[in-house]
Amino acid sequence: MPSLPLLRAKATDLGLTLDETALERFEAYRALLIEWNERFNLTRVTEPDEIERRLFLDSLALAPLLARHRLASRVAGNLRLVDVGTGGGFPGLPLKIADPSIELTLIDATAKKIGFLQEAIRELGLDGVRAVHGRSEELAHDPAYRSAFDVVIARAVAKLPTLIELCMPFCGPRGWGIFPKGRDIAAEVVSTTNALKALRCKLIGVESPTLPELSGTTLVIIEQVGKPPKPYPRRAGLPAKSPL
Ligand code: SAH
Repeated sequence: MPSLPLLRAKATDLGLTLDETALERFEAYRALLIEWNERFNLTRVTEPDEIERRLFLDSLALAPLLARHRLASRVAGNLRLVDVGTGGGFPGLPLKIADPSIELTLIDATAKKIGFLQEAIRELGLDGVRAVHGRSEELAHDPAYRSAFDVVIARAVAKLPTLIELCMPFCGPRGWGIFPKGRDIAAEVVSTTNALKALRCKLIGVESPTLPELSGTTLVIIEQVGKPPKPYPRRAGLPAKSPL
């Protein structure tokens, strides 16, 4: 019997039903994270209950917004979700475990992390998820990925103007970017004006998740209004070094 008391207690508040398969997958995922972390630095969060709270529950905090996007955009069929700079799989993989119907793409620039994710996907027996090694500056220009998703997510990867450039081109018109952030992000939100305009996006919400157990306190929601203009994202490194 998996011991994930917080996930069991809070799933309903997030509109989720976690069956035994999901809970067993979370348990197996946590064991793999701990095992791999002994070999190389996958995440700084290493205590079992911290993994449950700061990695799993924090990731699941995005679930109500995925549901809201579905209503707002009337997505037919399975949600196509991409997680940019996913590291050890956050927030994408917990969302996929909770809702296996999601078609998930995990992207990271570090090959070792993609190696871990490929093993985790195999071990957990998940279908409809791929882990891709590469930088978003390149992958977002690849026709297989550009404008190919309903929702893009990214956690702890960059400041908002950089994130908008790196992530929003993965969305088609009416797609959403959902970015978990810490407290005190007012100035960061104000600094997005140029990036929003250049990428043909608009800010549609800055929200606090409702659960007090969550460590990330703000979710920023951005919509891709028109087609993302061709030059973006600029070449590797520029979106972070010289933000729009
Ligand atoms: N999202 C995870 C990991 C955050 S660490 C979490 O919340 O725990 C940031 C990750 O982003 C690193 O693994 C790094 O390799 C990746 N990354 C940074 N810039 C990137 C880019 N331009 N394209 C793809 N991955 C990138």
